[in-house]
Amino acid sequence: MIQLRNIRKTYGKHSVLNGINITVEKGDVIAILGPSGSGKTTLLRCINFLEHPNEGEITIGEVAVDCKHASKKDVLALRRKTAMVFQHYNLFKHKTVLQNVMEGLTVVQKMPAEEAREISLLMLAKVGLTHKADSYPSQLSGGQQQRVGIARALALNPEVILFDEPTSSLDPELVGEVLTVIQNIAQEGVTMIVVTHEMGFARDISNHIVFMEEGRIIEEGKPQDIFNAPKEERTKQFFKRFT
Ligand code: ATP
Repeated sequence: MIQLRNIRKTYGKHSVLNGINITVEKGDVIAILGPSGSGKTTLLRCINFLEHPNEGEITIGEVAVDCKHASKKDVLALRRKTAMVFQHYNLFKHKTVLQNVMEGLTVVQKMPAEEAREISLLMLAKVGLTHKADSYPSQLSGGQQQRVGIARALALNPEVILFDEPTSSLDPELVGEVLTVIQNIAQEGVTMIVVTHEMGFARDISNHIVFMEEGRIIEEGKPQDIFNAPKEERTKQFFKRFT
């Protein structure tokens, strides 16, 4: 189980997260939606301390961290429980696809290369890229690069995968292949938190929607309730644009 309790984040005087509480059960797919600037990406990056929350508690499995007093050891422990898929893929340009997927296993998890290679090839098969194992990122389309990013996250076998707008950098015709891969792994029971502007995808893939505005959760619930019968005026206005 993952618990975020009273997460607060400020940049100077600007309060970006104003006390966020979310509970994620194993196998949940949580979609975080909301207007631009509402704090979605910041929240996601606070979970693995790519941004340091000013206050709050983060619990992932048996690791519980008081954000205000987090040590380096706490941060490492949290990071080992998570993997992230970035908007801009963040692949190593001078490593092959296979080496990119293996990197976290051999360097962070200190896994022997042969074992890491086997796992990485399995993950590349899951995202349909076995045939690109020896290619370099520059030889791949954006959609393929993002699928490598997803294979890399899966290989780490984390408790949760954090997706930060995984299709926002893609040409429209490449969005579908990435969403299909994410949908397939969601169906395998991988726990996910997904920040996205793809409303149809959020509705289809998630079992829980969190709607944020100005660093607060305005409304949350099952996708069918949030999309078809939102309670809050702000949520109604936001979703009106998509129906
Ligand atoms: P979008 O949908 O446009 O990606 P978002 O909901 O993900 O937006 P965030 O990127 O989390 O929003 O940003 C929330 C607020 O925090 C914005 O006002 C943004 O300008 C501010 N912000 C984000 N990162 C920083 C930073 N490193 N320094 C200062 N302000 C920041």
